[in-house]
Amino acid sequence: MAAAGLLCESPDVFDPDETHVAFESAVRAWCERALAGEVPALERGEKLPYPLLRALGRELGLAEVLGATAERKLAKLRGGAETRSLREGGGDLAGDPLLTSILFKEIGRVSPGFAMVLMATLGCGMTILARGSAELVERFAIPILRFEKIGAWALTEPEAGSDAFGGMRTTAVREADGWRLRGQKTFISNAPYADVIAVFARVARESGEPLARPIVVERGTAGLEVGPPLRKMGMHDSPTGDVFLDDCRVPLGHLVGALESESRARGAAALDTLNMERAVMPSICLGILERCVEESVRHARTRRQFGRTIGEFQAVAFTIARMEVALENARNLVTKLAHAQKQGRLDARLASIAKLYCAEEATRAALAAVQVHGGSGYMADLPLEKLARDAKMFEIGGGTNEIQLQTIARALLA
Ligand SMILES: Cc1cc2nc3c(=O)[nH]c(=O)nc-3n(C[C@H](O)[C@H](O)[C@H](O)COP(=O)(O)OP(=O)(O)OC[C@H]3O[C@@H](n4cnc5c(N)ncnc54)[C@H](O)[C@@H]3O)c2cc1C
Repeated sequence: MAAAGLLCESPDVFDPDETHVAFESAVRAWCERALAGEVPALERGEKLPYPLLRALGRELGLAEVLGATAERKLAKLRGGAETRSLREGGGDLAGDPLLTSILFKEIGRVSPGFAMVLMATLGCGMTILARGSAELVERFAIPILRFEKIGAWALTEPEAGSDAFGGMRTTAVREADGWRLRGQKTFISNAPYADVIAVFARVARESGEPLARPIVVERGTAGLEVGPPLRKMGMHDSPTGDVFLDDCRVPLGHLVGALESESRARGAAALDTLNMERAVMPSICLGILERCVEESVRHARTRRQFGRTIGEFQAVAFTIARMEVALENARNLVTKLAHAQKQGRLDARLASIAKLYCAEEATRAALAAVQVHGGSGYMADLPLEKLARDAKMFEIGGGTNEIQLQTIARALLA
């Protein structure tokens, strides 16, 4: 084992190949052609993001590769010959985390809100795929991952945010023929329009403490109500809402994963998805940083005041230089995360470091980019004011900055 502190302890060189380069160009082209022009209408609520989401899945082949990954898992669950695990996938999106990072980075450059829509539906699909039964995978994970159904992932409650597990009040009580769910979830991405919601509930067990587990609830189930989209500071193109469960009854088979065999009091399935979110969100923030640097450099080179370009003023030049430092660091962290995921060793500490750093720096850079652009930066004609409003969300959603610090400190001091 290498001595502590040696640079070579973490060989994180992860060179992109032609597949990555081609995929990045394809996603960029799609975002510029299909998404960028729609963002203002999405932001004003004149259009919903879901037809575009389906187009993204279809036109970039994501529905095909993710659907095929889910089909393979189904074959495995049914005892078929397929043995590749999700982590071992050969070059497809699920098997190559760098492709996932590229996808979210590129969308993040144009609309972090739209990236959130994608992340929430995939979060639901992947939660079911990772631990669900063959029946759940077939009925819910496959249609979600083929972009035919929209998913949502509901952990947060009005009285349980940062302390999502400790404070959880939503319960699932076992009855003769199913689960009876009671409770409320809040701030849930896609909830107002989702076909399928993975609802986390405290599930009573025959022995031991109740466990927080996801239970699949379909739109239209009696006792399930979703609220209208909530008004927010940013991410107006990502519908967010409440979920009300009032004696909502779902079949016993809708519980995702085993119950009695699991002894961990904290929801392992929720932590998997939270860690997935913490790995994806830095990529979206990287996209924000990249766009802010590009726009600021372009503006600083062309905008003239006092007879010279504003880039000639040290205050402006240094602002952009600081943004570039953050961009480089964020890029390294995202690459390191993808590498760790590929090796199957993504840990909470690294995911939290990346999420904290990238969210803070994206927020700072987006506000700085508005400043570099002056009045035009504050106007909605440019993407910067949206990037600044959207960036702030990443300091809160998926665990606040303070919770990331707590996770990092725990890993060091435990
Ligand atoms: C746009 C948006 C979309 C979202 N989408 C989803 C979704 O799809 N699914 C889902 O389940 N949730 C979702 N969330 C919820 C999000 O994960 C929570 O808002 C977040 O975890 C914080 O919880 P809270 O809002 O209850 O804040 P609180 O937990 O009440 O925190 C308030 C403040 O107290 C601080 N604090 C709390 N505990 C500590 C501590 N121990 N030490 C130091 N400081 C602390 C926090 O850092 C924060 O500054 C979304 C949120 C937003 C804004």
